Amino acid sequence: MRHISVIGSGTMGNGIAHVFAQQGFDVALVDISEEALRKGVSTIAKNLDRQVLKSILTESDKLATLARIRTATSLEEGVRDADLVVEAATENSDLKLRIFGQLDDACPPQCILASNTSSISITRIAAATGRPDKVIGMHFMNPVPVMKLVEVINGYATASDVTERIVELSRHLGKTPCVVQDYPGFVANRILMPMINEAIRTLHEGVADVAAIDTVMKLGMSHPMGPLQLADFIGLDVCLAILQVLQEGFGQPAYAPCPLLVNMVRAGRLGVKSGEGFYRYVPGSKEATPVEFR
Ligand code: NAD
Repeated sequence: MRHISVIGSGTMGNGIAHVFAQQGFDVALVDISEEALRKGVSTIAKNLDRQVLKSILTESDKLATLARIRTATSLEEGVRDADLVVEAATENSDLKLRIFGQLDDACPPQCILASNTSSISITRIAAATGRPDKVIGMHFMNPVPVMKLVEVINGYATASDVTERIVELSRHLGKTPCVVQDYPGFVANRILMPMINEAIRTLHEGVADVAAIDTVMKLGMSHPMGPLQLADFIGLDVCLAILQVLQEGFGQPAYAPCPLLVNMVRAGRLGVKSGEGFYRYVPGSKEATPVEFR
């Protein structure tokens, strides 16, 4: 594989483009928004600068990495010569099904189509294409240049040689791949989201406040970040959407999102990205003040 196309230049897309370009792949970064592309490339440049400062990269490596990334607003133009597409567009099932239909028409026949979706069924996405054997989940973690895990998700029809190639490629990127099957939430979110939901229920029932719940999990379980703060980083709207996928997929009341989470999302308290969730954030600073809940 030489040519990689990344669809979506948001939080995840720019990180995915970064790690591929740094490993010597030619990358086309595609987004419908010129602004998102500009922001994506500028974030990659900033993150590469940080790696140069830490002596992980040389200045010339940084420039060579940036030179391997081109941008496109047209999907057809961005994927014309792709060996692999990694889709990291907005988490919306109708949108992803439409994008995969377009990718199937526009990509070379041998091209593998991967999705970075957090929760949408890979089997369902694959069914929107005429090549379900070449569709797979490649679930990177945020921030992509730092986090080692890639959850590799086999759809119902994914061919085993496609899985092997994606596993090998993930290792080549310096990541640790884990192969999982396509069931709601895969592995990462099936385990993480009920824990976050339970932390929110614990808060909602007045068992403890935000700081106490997060401290119990950090000091008691050696988690680097408490579940409520982690939810703020992921985005409370994203957490709600994933819990709804789990609830619908398993049909069990245990997965029902806590009413407090639902209300916070309705009120636009989405976590770090909106400036407030379970903590209040000051833009440009690492400060986080726990919110008091009644
Ligand atoms: P984001 O909102 O930051 O970025 C999404 C980008 O997709 C935007 O720039 C948007 O303009 C672009 N987009 C929308 N429609 C498009 C189209 N038709 N063609 C091309 N680009 C289009 O979202 P994100 O947080 O980067 O999430 C992207 C994907 O990664 C989602 O599937 C999400 O579930 C998954 N994911 C997110 C995280 C996380 O922590 N944010 C972690 C793992 C996986």
